Amino acid sequence: MPPVRAPLKPLDQALAELLAQATPLLAVDSVSTFDADGRVLAQDLVSSLDVPAHDNSSMDGYAVRCADWADATTVLQVNQRIPAGSSGHALAAMSAARIFTGAPIPPGADAVVMQEDRETLGEGGVRILVPPKPGQWIRRRGEDVAAGAVVLQRGERLSPASLGLAASIGFDKLAVASRVRVALFSTGDELVMPGDVAPADMKPGAIYNSNRFFLRALLLRLGCTVTDLGIVPDRLDATMAALHGASQQHDLILTSGGVSVGEEDHIKPAVQALGELNLWQIAIKPGKPFAYGRVGPAHFIGLPGNPVSSFVTFLLLVRPFLLKLQGASDVATKSVALPAHFTWPKADKRREFLRVRRDAAGGLELFGNQSSGVLTSAVWGDGLVDNPAGQTIAHGDKVQFIPFAELLA
Ligand code: AMP
Ligand code: MG
Repeated sequence: MPPVRAPLKPLDQALAELLAQATPLLAVDSVSTFDADGRVLAQDLVSSLDVPAHDNSSMDGYAVRCADWADATTVLQVNQRIPAGSSGHALAAMSAARIFTGAPIPPGADAVVMQEDRETLGEGGVRILVPPKPGQWIRRRGEDVAAGAVVLQRGERLSPASLGLAASIGFDKLAVASRVRVALFSTGDELVMPGDVAPADMKPGAIYNSNRFFLRALLLRLGCTVTDLGIVPDRLDATMAALHGASQQHDLILTSGGVSVGEEDHIKPAVQALGELNLWQIAIKPGKPFAYGRVGPAHFIGLPGNPVSSFVTFLLLVRPFLLKLQGASDVATKSVALPAHFTWPKADKRREFLRVRRDAAGGLELFGNQSSGVLTSAVWGDGLVDNPAGQTIAHGDKVQFIPFAELLA
C-alpha cells in the first residue's frame, strides 16, 4: 500500500495552532527607557501631566492681544521677554511680549506674531504688519498628551518614537517582557562552519552552515537571548543530548534541517522520545516541512533546512510566535497591495511567497530564481509577494507585498 500522505495544512491554520501554544511568558524586566527599543511593554503608561504642559509659542516672535490691533500703524510696547524655559507675566493692553519657540504664552495673550511680520521702532515699540488671528502660532496645552491618558499600552512593541513619547511624560524606566531565551542548533552532517574549513578545502557534499547566521541574527532582532549550540551531528544520541540539555534553561529550542519527510532524520524521534512533536506539512512554498513540539518545559520548533524555506518560515511563523511569547498584542504580518511588474504564468497548488523588490516605478520586480536553496533571492529582494494558491500573475496585477523592513524590525 502506498504511504498515506497527510493533507497539507493551510498557513493560517498552522499559525493559529502555533499561536495557541504561545502563552505569553510572565517574566518582566525593568529597563532604562534608553535601552527599551524593540522590547514589548509590560505595563500601560499613563500620563500624569499634559504635554505640552502650557500653551506655548511655536515660533520666535511676539505674543500679542489681537484686540489691540487696529491696523499696520498700531504701535505695541514690548515690555517683557520670555525665552524657552522661563515664564512671563500677564500681558497689559497695547503691549507685546518678545517670545521664543517653546516658551509659555503669557496670560492675556491670544496670538503669536512671527518676528518676520513686525517692524521694530525705537524705545521698545513694534508694529505688527499683518493682522494677527486669535490662536495663531500657539501650541495648546495637552494637544499631544492629556493628563490621565494611556499613552502606550501593555503589549505594544517599543519603537524609537515610543521611547521619546515615554520620556515626554517622565518615564525613565519601563517594565518590559523579559527576553525570550532561545537555544539554536543546526542539524546536518554536510554542514561546515566558515572559518573551520577554507573554501578550497571543502569536501564534496559539504556546505557551509548559512542558516545559523541568519537565524541567530533574526532572533537577536526580536529581542531574544540566543544560546548557539552550533551543529549537532546527525545521530540520535547527540540530538537527544542537545535537546535535553537545552530544555531546562530555555523557552524555545529552534533547529533547522532534518524535518523533511522520509529523510534520515533524528530530530523527529529525539523530540518524540523527550516530549511531543507535531510534524506539519504546511501548504506554502518555500517552506513545506515545519515541526512544533515540546521538550520538557521548552517549546520546540524545527524549521526546514533549505535556507530560503528556513528564512521564510521563520518570518511567517516563528516571528509572530516569539512576539506573542513576549505578550505583544499585534503579531500579524501586514501586507500592502502593489502592482506586479512581472508575470508568474504557472500557478502552484501551494500559497507562494515570492522574493521581489520594489522598482522605481512603484511596482514589484521578481528575482529570477525562486528556488528554496537560493539565498541570493532573499538578499536581492526587499520583501515577499504573498501569492494565493492556484493564482497566476499578469503584468500590472495588484499583488500583496510584505516588506522585509516590517518583518525584520
Ligand atoms: P534538510 O531539511 O535537512 O533535509 O535539508 C534540506 C536542504 O537544506 C539540504 O540541501 C541541506 O544541505 C540544506 N541545509 C540544511 N541545513 C542547512 C544549513 N544550516 N545551512 C545551509 N543549508 C542547510
Ligand atoms: Mg538534513
